[in-house]
Amino acid sequence: MKNEVDNLIVGGGIAGIWLAFQFLRMRKSFAMIDKPGISISSSVAAGIFNPILPGRQKKSYNADLIYPQLGKKYQEMETLIDEKVLFTPKICYILDDQKSLNDWSVLAASPDFRDYVSIRDNKLSNAIQSEFGYLEINHSGRVDILTMVNAFKRLISAPNCFIEAEFDEEQLEFTSEGIVYSDISAQQVIFCQGAGMNHNRLTQHLPLKPAKGEVLLIKISDPIADIIPQNGVFMLPLEDGIYKVGSNFEWDDLSYLPTEKAKDEILRKFRKWYKGDFEIIGHEAGLRPSSEDRRPIIGKIPAMEHAYIFNGLGSKGVALAPYYSDILSKHIYNEGTIEKEVDVKRLRNLAYKI
Ligand SMILES: Cc1cc2nc3c(=O)[nH]c(=O)nc-3n(C[C@H](O)[C@H](O)[C@H](O)COP(=O)(O)OP(=O)(O)OC[C@H]3O[C@@H](n4cnc5c(N)ncnc54)[C@H](O)[C@@H]3O)c2cc1C
Repeated sequence: MKNEVDNLIVGGGIAGIWLAFQFLRMRKSFAMIDKPGISISSSVAAGIFNPILPGRQKKSYNADLIYPQLGKKYQEMETLIDEKVLFTPKICYILDDQKSLNDWSVLAASPDFRDYVSIRDNKLSNAIQSEFGYLEINHSGRVDILTMVNAFKRLISAPNCFIEAEFDEEQLEFTSEGIVYSDISAQQVIFCQGAGMNHNRLTQHLPLKPAKGEVLLIKISDPIADIIPQNGVFMLPLEDGIYKVGSNFEWDDLSYLPTEKAKDEILRKFRKWYKGDFEIIGHEAGLRPSSEDRRPIIGKIPAMEHAYIFNGLGSKGVALAPYYSDILSKHIYNEGTIEKEVDVKRLRNLAYKI
């Protein structure tokens, strides 16, 4: 007998679980297939959310729509999974020089940025050099992605909605009513595979441009206050004097192996403003599922019936997944449109080739 559900979700990173969260709210059933480790992004991500691009003196895309609501959305997720995953140490962006300070002094007073940044000139810590002060960024913080993803999967395992297995697209059949995969039948399949999408024959024609990133785990003996100092790289407090420091961007070497080159780059940027002693205790790498135009990729896959995509979250999965999963889930049920900047239809080379 077939296991009949409304939706089959492929991939259980931050994109997949937020989409599943929306289906739960809409009372639509689903099955999720995920094999952790096929693409590695949600598991190494720092989980920071930040509405400002300080170097470019801009707000990030759709910041006004996304960031002021973000805390509330993660609180709803926390209630559902019964775990604390949202933390609100603010990002403190260290200003480089007098010019950045002058520029930001004007911007911080403007209506566009007033609710987002304040300029501060107190010392962040004895070990942090910040002679031109720093920007304290509102609506910033961190989500413990790994705890959230694992708790969500535990929650949906009990009613048998979670299948830990590798998805093989060769076993997927399209019918006039929907799709059939193994013993599951559903009205549609939604691919949320992160960088793994490039290995799926049904989605590899969609242009994803993954960006490798690495992070170091360091231990310091004189912990700083509960903030996330940042300039070139971030320094994210975890627990017991341990911090995550990163990251870099690499588009050529797309392996999951940490490299000395990235380590050196991260340390060079970190030592520009962090003058204290530290010990390196870990080093990890992952692939951000970025797109060529740095926008999410969502919607119905052109020329395929009953198949959708939710990907391209790049380096902003924490902020984008709650907002765009809401839009996509409603769109699937004819309750709304997808803005053209993120719609999969905008992409080049869309002809699906068998
Ligand atoms: C070093 C680094 C630091 C980062 N820091 C941040 C940060 O501070 N803040 C932020 O917002 N974002 C950050 N990111 C980006 C963030 O990790 C991504 O935006 C996000 O994780 C993308 O989520 P996803 O669900 O689309 O993909 P993924 O997290 O890659 O999840 C996809 C899932 O699908 C599974 N899968 C794939 N193919 C198959 C298959 N065939 N069968 C079964 N399962 C499959 C994978 O194993 C995985 O579990 C960082 C990324 C890196 C690499």
